[in-house]
Amino acid sequence: MPREFLNTERIAYLTMEVALRPDIPTYSGGLGVLAGDTVRSAADLELPLVTVSLASRKGYFRQRLDANGRQQEEADPWEPSERARPLQARVVVPIEGRDVWVGGWLYVLEGGLGGRQPVILLDTDLGENSADDCELTHYLYGGDAAYRLKQEIVLGIGGARMLHALGFRVRQYHMNEGHAALLCLELMNRYAYPNDDLRPGETPYDIPRVRDLCNFTTHTPVEAGHDKFPYDLVDRVLGDFIDRQTLRRLAGEDQLNMTRLALNSSDYVNGVARRHAETSQHLFPGYHVRYVTNGVHPQTWTHVAFAGLYDRSLPGWSHEPELLVRADCCLSDEAVWQAHQAARRDLVALVRDRTGIGLDPEAFTLGFARRMTAYKRPELLFSDIARLKAIAGNHPLQIVMAGKAHPRDEEGKRAIEAIHAHMHELAGVIQTAYIPNYDMAVAATLVAGVDVWLNTPLPPWEASGTSGMKAAFNGVPHLSVLDGWWSEGRIEGVTGWAIGNGDADGDDATHLYEKLDQVVLPLFYQDRAGWLRLMKNVIAKNASYFNSHRMMRRYASDAYIR
Ligand SMILES: *Cc1c(COP(=O)(O)O)cnc(C)c1O
Repeated sequence: MPREFLNTERIAYLTMEVALRPDIPTYSGGLGVLAGDTVRSAADLELPLVTVSLASRKGYFRQRLDANGRQQEEADPWEPSERARPLQARVVVPIEGRDVWVGGWLYVLEGGLGGRQPVILLDTDLGENSADDCELTHYLYGGDAAYRLKQEIVLGIGGARMLHALGFRVRQYHMNEGHAALLCLELMNRYAYPNDDLRPGETPYDIPRVRDLCNFTTHTPVEAGHDKFPYDLVDRVLGDFIDRQTLRRLAGEDQLNMTRLALNSSDYVNGVARRHAETSQHLFPGYHVRYVTNGVHPQTWTHVAFAGLYDRSLPGWSHEPELLVRADCCLSDEAVWQAHQAARRDLVALVRDRTGIGLDPEAFTLGFARRMTAYKRPELLFSDIARLKAIAGNHPLQIVMAGKAHPRDEEGKRAIEAIHAHMHELAGVIQTAYIPNYDMAVAATLVAGVDVWLNTPLPPWEASGTSGMKAAFNGVPHLSVLDGWWSEGRIEGVTGWAIGNGDADGDDATHLYEKLDQVVLPLFYQDRAGWLRLMKNVIAKNASYFNSHRMMRRYASDAYIR
């Protein structure tokens, strides 16, 4: 391990997925992109982090779509040796009573401002292991519950042991979602009292000490997003790693709930937006759930044309994005519009390249792309096709979409097919395109090149959402249901628009159509100066705040230094 990474105490950031760059498929969606932005901001701010994740050699999956929008999943492998250096250390973790060896890779993330960050990608694909154990770090979110539990042993227990073996001095641990919570059990064992000091009924573990070391960020109020394992499986896979009574007290009586374990083992717990923390506080009464609203990494999500404009007019913005608050006064309409046109050209080229469809570079373009799953309501825009056609009759409109469904999310897959059917119904009236294989690179082109970014989740299930923040760095306003970060970011008519009032039972489709027809499209086509004022306000008020530099400075001051 290079000296530069060992000579200072670090924050160990453990995450199941991390989006390091578009051609390293160790991420599936928002959680991994956020982890990547976390590391990129840490690099720019020179915050001493060490990130631990899995090598995921076979990636998540590559999405192919047939003409009807049926999703086919293909392996998306990568070769760690081409991008990372092998680690010199190996550790073992206990799985089903045997020793499984864990090795891995050092990926050095080099930030745009010169900072460097170590990222450890754990890998069990080693000669010492059985064929089955070699596969434990292959598939991100693949396999059954037993496979997942074993992966989480590698991440949480193997991760902590690997950091120790490599010589890292860890100041605090940060669990990005509950997947890493077995870390807490490793720390309990590390900081146990000698057995002969115990009075009957006392736990041998120094729980306050572990809690003092741990920070936990919960990322979703959706129940299925919280890993739970039945205790008979845990007993079989993890054996007597920790005494049962303590485990049940910390992780739940009926099953091992990773979220509970992390909550009970961390002095600092947060949700990822104000509204999400409120929702989580109801889900987890008795815990203090704070919030650090998510952000996105400035340089990564800003189109080169806008980055050039900011470099000229607001130098220093990529280290201190607060400087963008001046965007409303400092940027000329002409320069903003030209940067937007450059982003639009890239989008038109991407859509032609991936789908063969020729977008109109002048027409108002609505963008929607994210994980395709029920609570995100990807079909809401198509609830009333006749109404949508009528709106397009009043003002030209085109739509660009993208998104993968998890291989086992049948509802999500059906949504992609339904969207394709709607796209056929709209043919000749509204130009539509669905870009296959949504990833970081597609996201960057899409959020910058559209005119408005749409989000229609069912409240309160969108914990934060980050793609609308990416749009903000490119002056693209957000039209969204009031959930997640948008409850904080929306100033009506200034940074974008709300759909509905944020309740779950509102008629959001009708509100969406009304806003589009009566507010958004008229402004775009009839008041270009007003539209440019809006674009500049989006940059000034939202990009200046909803960025991962602010987020990491908050984690540093509130969680890491306490
Ligand atoms: C940003 C991003 C996401 C998350 O977007 P949300 O708005 O939070 O749903 C998902 N996937 C990719 C590829 C992204 O770049």
